[in-house]
Amino acid sequence: MGGGQLGRMLSLASRKMGVNVLAWTGGDRSGAASTADRIIDKPFDDPSALEDFTKSVGAATVEFENLPVDTLKQVEGRIPLRPGSLAVSICQHREREKKFLSENGFACANFRLAHDLESFTEGLKQIGPPLIVKTAEFGYDGKGQLRISEKLSQNQVEEAWQKFAGGRVVIEECISLDTELSVLVARDSKGNTVFYDPVENIHRNHILDISIVPARIPPEIQKKACKTALEIAQSMKYVGMLAVEFFVSSDGRLLVNELAPRPHNSGHHTIDACHSSQFDQQARATADIPLGSPQLISPVIMMNLLGDLWESPLTPPDWSEILSLKGTVLHLYGKREARPGRKMGHINILGDSVEDCLKKARSIRKKLDLPDF
Ligand code: ADP
Ligand code: MG
Repeated sequence: MGGGQLGRMLSLASRKMGVNVLAWTGGDRSGAASTADRIIDKPFDDPSALEDFTKSVGAATVEFENLPVDTLKQVEGRIPLRPGSLAVSICQHREREKKFLSENGFACANFRLAHDLESFTEGLKQIGPPLIVKTAEFGYDGKGQLRISEKLSQNQVEEAWQKFAGGRVVIEECISLDTELSVLVARDSKGNTVFYDPVENIHRNHILDISIVPARIPPEIQKKACKTALEIAQSMKYVGMLAVEFFVSSDGRLLVNELAPRPHNSGHHTIDACHSSQFDQQARATADIPLGSPQLISPVIMMNLLGDLWESPLTPPDWSEILSLKGTVLHLYGKREARPGRKMGHINILGDSVEDCLKKARSIRKKLDLPDF
């Protein structure tokens, strides 16, 4: 369920293993539509689409968390849905996510919840600046977030609330970040789990820019992150691919940032640098095929390619030099039109060491006129 680039890559991985794919895209024709065996492009609340979908497939998964929970429950009532509706509903809603994390003892940034001007004013006061306000629903790539770095007057508080009025928000302490990392875990229906080496993530304008594996982070922090990610998957009785994003604060705290109930942008390196990719694992967990080895074959850097790089909406940059570089794999998602900030593809850069990958990545960025990282 879902029609973006994650569904596209999931379809490719599934079909490689002889698993047929029906993508219920909800109308999105940009990604999964071109790689699935069949598509249903009706909206997610269309009863005839639900009927057709659940009669046509043996099991379902999601490539996008912002699906109506009601639809997910109906799917789940008829066929296995992996991950289940409860896990998706937690991950799609920051308020439920924060409650789940804190009630289960997983450390995250201090937060308060707000739903009206009064609770917003109180929440801002209790957390204190610098802080970040995030909408509970539908945020991605930094959208729906407001950073507040100083104490506001009551007028300014009211003005800030205007942006969120009618909705629910999470008010979160702003963490002084040392690094960000993510851990990708797969769990099958029998409770077997595998996890990938932690990924070091560098964001630019709130969008993932670069992922580095192995992460340049102390081994004890990495170990703790893996343990936490596995515990989260276990405690949700999760089935499928789960991504756990972490902050490492400059005072050494490891905090869970957010969860994604699906393959994750910071796992795209696994396509070329691991025995089984995150998409293979999702296909396997969904179709009840034993999970594959997540082992890393080579140090790797994943670099996102955003629409900003395109010369015009329909004109990609010249890839010729990059295509011929040793150890470099270009992935494009087949989206027709580029827009600033739109994820159009990524490059996986393999090398003998992280230093080697960094050197190659820096030279590619120069060729593409991208700033250094
Ligand atoms: P999304 O990825 O859905 O846009 P995130 O909550 O992961 O939302 O925020 C995007 C990025 O913004 C994070 O990866 C991090 O770089 C930054 N960020 C978010 N929350 C905080 C915070 N509390 N403190 C510091 N940086 C943050
Ligand atoms: Mg995030």
